[in-house]
Amino acid sequence: AGADGADSASDLPSIVERVDSQPAIRLDRGGKSFGDNSVFNNLNLAVRQGEVVSIIGPSGSGKTTLIRSLNGLETLDQGIVYLKEKPFIAGREEQLGRTLPKAKNEMLELGMVFQSFNLFPHKTVLGNVTLGPRYHNRGSVGEIRSSARAILSQVGMLAHENKYPHQLSGGQQQRVAIARALAMKPSVLLFDEPTSALDPETVGEVLRIMADLAKSGRTMIIVTHEMKFALEVSDRVIFMEGGKVIFDGSPNALREELLRDVRLADFVRL
Ligand code: ADP
Repeated sequence: AGADGADSASDLPSIVERVDSQPAIRLDRGGKSFGDNSVFNNLNLAVRQGEVVSIIGPSGSGKTTLIRSLNGLETLDQGIVYLKEKPFIAGREEQLGRTLPKAKNEMLELGMVFQSFNLFPHKTVLGNVTLGPRYHNRGSVGEIRSSARAILSQVGMLAHENKYPHQLSGGQQQRVAIARALAMKPSVLLFDEPTSALDPETVGEVLRIMADLAKSGRTMIIVTHEMKFALEVSDRVIFMEGGKVIFDGSPNALREELLRDVRLADFVRL
């Protein structure tokens, strides 16, 4: 006992405790081109309930296109996205496309956090967080507001609830954007380079919130350039290059791979 090689540097509960075996979301044989530019082909990705997956790789390798394809912000040419093993997005060329019902409710299961925050500039912090639940009738005004306040408190932004986005730092805006995504109670959180547009001094506060979410058992897919974060917080790291998955494994497996693969090591450069 005690010598089972557990990663003592991490205070995450073990993956076995947190992660369910059923995929929360799965892309089957995804293909996407922009005109003549084939971004990826025959790409498979399955992320289990409770799993935290970081996608890293050089720019232009298709990471953002992939994550946007998972929630329909980009239209796939081929492939099917399953949510809890139910098909909910089909590529344009899939026969299934015609028979899939409009999956609006399923779409709401996916929370998205963008590089550029995308808050509504004319709404307060609280207004930004309550907008989605109000629009989708997720409860009474009072219930929605109190739930939004609880979430704002979780991301450390309750004191700013009456401010407008332009009165906040980038890091604060991004924490509100995370709160806004959480307010819809999504089953999967997608992050597209959430810290790339931030001043260096506010990156940490956003990463800390994301690490807390990861520890609480959230299913998360994160496109990021923050290697240290990816290695410390993820259950799995995927390295993409030229539309292909070059590496897919645990942070420890990646660390070992770095000793063998000079190119990968050069990219990750910790
Ligand atoms: P990454 O996120 O890894 O930097 P992207 O998914 O942004 O990669 O881009 C992959 C490829 O797709 C690049 O060649 C990029 O120029 C192209 N691309 C991405 N979005 C569009 C778009 N809306 N229209 C045309 N080409 C695009």
